Amino acid sequence: MIRSFSILLACSTLCCCQDGPQPRVVDPGKPGEAPSDAIVLFSGKDASGWVHDDGSPAKWRVENGILICKSGTGDISSKHKFASAQIHVEFSTPYMPKFKSQARGNSGVFLQGRYEVQVLDSYQNPTYANGSCGALYSQYAPLVNACRPPEQWQSYEIIFHAPKCSSGGKVSEPGTLTVLHNGVLVQDHVTIKGTTDGSSNAHDCETGPLRLQDHWDSNVGDTPVRYRNIWYRPLD
Ligand code: MG
Repeated sequence: MIRSFSILLACSTLCCCQDGPQPRVVDPGKPGEAPSDAIVLFSGKDASGWVHDDGSPAKWRVENGILICKSGTGDISSKHKFASAQIHVEFSTPYMPKFKSQARGNSGVFLQGRYEVQVLDSYQNPTYANGSCGALYSQYAPLVNACRPPEQWQSYEIIFHAPKCSSGGKVSEPGTLTVLHNGVLVQDHVTIKGTTDGSSNAHDCETGPLRLQDHWDSNVGDTPVRYRNIWYRPLD
């Protein structure tokens, strides 16, 4: 009995204290700042790191450190491309009381330019569930509605594991997504079913940009969704 106890004690001491490499140090920065190992996509200075689909410089406005969607100019994409990543985005939807559902404050954050985490004014604004703010658009509704009212700043913390492909180029392991909206879990490690627009999976294993949507609708007109503090940390 005493011997068994001694073996148990020795094991609990040794097994729990095995040494290993120390975690890499990352300075988390002050509140509102990017961590020291983050790649900053928009710091508030200018939109020089962003382009439209044709490669031309982003026409969205930058005012007082804020990137503002200029409706009708088209989506913009970061010049940086990434695979798996932790992504931080802050956004604010405009006050558009004349409109409802998808016409109110619509934009979006596309991961690798392919998978849209919906941005929408979903504060007291019902729409189809998998099209509301925090949805992986058309695939998964958010677990809860954590929206703040329009014109207030909100945040997305996204953990994105990119799809993996076989040597033949087909997806062998789908990507996954976790999203916290204003610190509240809204997507819990969901499996990505495909691209938001339903296009071919042929490019699913290439790196891609962060893409911000200009949800142009001529019946709605200007939808000046605002963004700030955009960064990511590669998870490879
Ligand atoms: Mg959208």
